[in-house]
Amino acid sequence: MAASVKTPTFTIALAGNPNAGKTSLFNALTGLNQGVGNFPGKTVEKKTGICRRNGHTIGVVDLPGTYSLTAFSLDERIARDHIISGEPDVVVCVADATNLERNLYLAVQIREIGVPLVLALNMADSARAQGIRIDTERLGQLLGGIPVVATAANRGHGIDELLDAVVHSAERVLSGVEASTPPAFAINYGTAIEAAIATIQTRLAGEIFVDSFARWMALMLLESDATVIEHVREFDNGPAILAEVGAQIGRLETLLDDDLPILTADHRYGFINGLVRQVQQKPVDRVALTDRIDDIVTHRYLGLPLFMLVMLLVFRLVIDVSAPFLDWVDAVITGPIASWTATILTAISAPAWLQSLVIEGIIAGVGGVLVFVPGLIVLYLFLAFLEDSGYLARAAFVMDRLMTVVGLHGKAMIPLILGFGCAVPAVYATRTMSNRRDRILTALLIPLMSCSARLPVYVVFGLAFFDRYAGTVIWIMYLVGIIIAVLAGLIFTRTILQPDENAAFVLELPPYRLPTGRSLLLHTWCNTKEFVHKAGTLILAVSVVLWLLLNLPLGVAEQEDSLFGQVSATVAPVFEPLGFGTWEATGSLITGFIAKELVVSTLSQIYIGAQDDLDIETTTSFAQDVLEIMVGFWEAAVDAARTLISIIPGIDLTGNNTEPEDVALSSALRDSFTPLSAVSFLIFVLLYVPCVATIAAVKQEFGKRWAVTAAVYQTALAWVCALLVYQGGLLLGYG
Ligand code: GDP
Ligand code: MG
Repeated sequence: MAASVKTPTFTIALAGNPNAGKTSLFNALTGLNQGVGNFPGKTVEKKTGICRRNGHTIGVVDLPGTYSLTAFSLDERIARDHIISGEPDVVVCVADATNLERNLYLAVQIREIGVPLVLALNMADSARAQGIRIDTERLGQLLGGIPVVATAANRGHGIDELLDAVVHSAERVLSGVEASTPPAFAINYGTAIEAAIATIQTRLAGEIFVDSFARWMALMLLESDATVIEHVREFDNGPAILAEVGAQIGRLETLLDDDLPILTADHRYGFINGLVRQVQQKPVDRVALTDRIDDIVTHRYLGLPLFMLVMLLVFRLVIDVSAPFLDWVDAVITGPIASWTATILTAISAPAWLQSLVIEGIIAGVGGVLVFVPGLIVLYLFLAFLEDSGYLARAAFVMDRLMTVVGLHGKAMIPLILGFGCAVPAVYATRTMSNRRDRILTALLIPLMSCSARLPVYVVFGLAFFDRYAGTVIWIMYLVGIIIAVLAGLIFTRTILQPDENAAFVLELPPYRLPTGRSLLLHTWCNTKEFVHKAGTLILAVSVVLWLLLNLPLGVAEQEDSLFGQVSATVAPVFEPLGFGTWEATGSLITGFIAKELVVSTLSQIYIGAQDDLDIETTTSFAQDVLEIMVGFWEAAVDAARTLISIIPGIDLTGNNTEPEDVALSSALRDSFTPLSAVSFLIFVLLYVPCVATIAAVKQEFGKRWAVTAAVYQTALAWVCALLVYQGGLLLGYG
């Protein structure tokens, strides 16, 4: 044996599944320059060899064959310890191309560690013979930009190319290029697990020298990996970090109802499933049920209409099912809760201003937001169901090609669609996207999808000015929003949010699962709690301020003379060129910034006059009220069930008695708007600054800069579009 003639300039390790052809490759690379020893401290045989290329002497280590790096078995632990030891400068993963899916599991795990990796797609000859075609270049891209080389080790095919790729990677590593760039590869483990990874990763980042490994270590800790746990225990903050990990694991396993290593493995398989679907063409023989469903659901032509149908259904369900409960919450807040509060306030002989503050300010303001909780619950429930069942991933797959036009990809579709319901959960839903730039762009476009809070404005104005055509006008508003979103997306993509260079990524196709009820409820509960808390604190503060502004200076008689009225009147000229420069319209737009529902309620408050002050019925008994609340809930449930059933074509149990009733406001509006200025006003409401809660969500997710961007660009956009509509209309003689 002519072993170790010269010290190697760098070292590579061969990893791979048993029978992938590692030994064949090892022999092809090293020829006769082989030696046999033991892995340090282990009795497992270690084959080492040397090979020369471009003046480099390359040390080659043949690792034990393993299917994964979970470190359950000795072989797996040896393979993994060696890979993370830093000893190999480049890892070569040998994968059997005829069994790509199974073999990629190991490759993906190595990729997650973040060490330099070259993938050898071995058995290329057999794969070709079986009619399997693999796009190696795309495969490399989707694995975050690694070289992929097809080889047939036993025939010596592709060995030179493989060596070139290895040398190239090693040269990058040795020159320090690789070490300075973070691994551009991460699997998306879903909202809940990602949040836990982020938390732990932040804690780990405090401990120097693990920086580039932080995400992987966080993941391993969540998988209760013994080696990594031991390692972390040594840190100064080790015990605290491990305690945090324990808490996160407990929370996640209750929430997701499964063991974390199983859940993460599921996500990896989902990733690989999606990956293989994008790079491999294989003659069909026997196909699994999941694959058969996927063939329909992600079909080139069927996929899109199917997806549209599903979304239409979800959209209708969210609105229809939540509507009765919405009314119920509204009735409870304005009925019993208001009257109880009034009774209590009277009993303790609270001053009139306090009563006014509590009832007109706080209950109206905070209650106005709580009214939307039922809608949110339904929305979150469907969102959780779609995500957990695995369909959301398929939808993203289908929309991918279309979305590239706007500089986005399939995953952006879901948040955008949720934007029709409410922009706040939609902004949070961008969390399922892994790329920050894409998340920001999506969040900037979401408010252009007409949220349900804007519907009342459309309805009131539509009925006032366009009667029979009200429906068409409303439909056009939605359409205008979508078209503007496409244009805005095109502009952003070419200016401040250019796509990342390495934008290729895998749309995961996780296995289908029937989500457990508990997991759905927990998901929904967590999200709802968060919303109630956040909206509650924010809206409470704003409500009090607004109430003050409407009642200052002290003893003001006319709303127009109140601080709010005066401020509105001062701002009003800005809207003069748009056709609605009155203080009333301006005031409604100002409160509309707090919540778009407030546009209509402010207008009706102003135009129909202050409501009968504190005229709240307190004659009913407490028991009657409670009974009424329960009966109301039951009726809402029945209504919701009816609407659900009525979705089946041909059945209609709803009786269609939901005529909008706000006619008094409509006639008042006709006195102060022309049809043209009404359209201009609607366009402005559609496009202008998203509500405070949305801005707050954008700020929480992406920081102040993007929150300000969202507010400014939309307001400017709204002003310009409304101006074009109004002035254009005047020119055409519609004044
Ligand atoms: P290891 O378990 O990963 O070390 O795999 P081996 O190198 O022992 O190979 C397993 C079997 O696959 C052997 O019979 C090899 O001859 C065969 N083999 C290895 N590479 C190739 C290849 O590229 N094409 C084909 N057709 N067979 C191969
Ligand atoms: Mg072998």
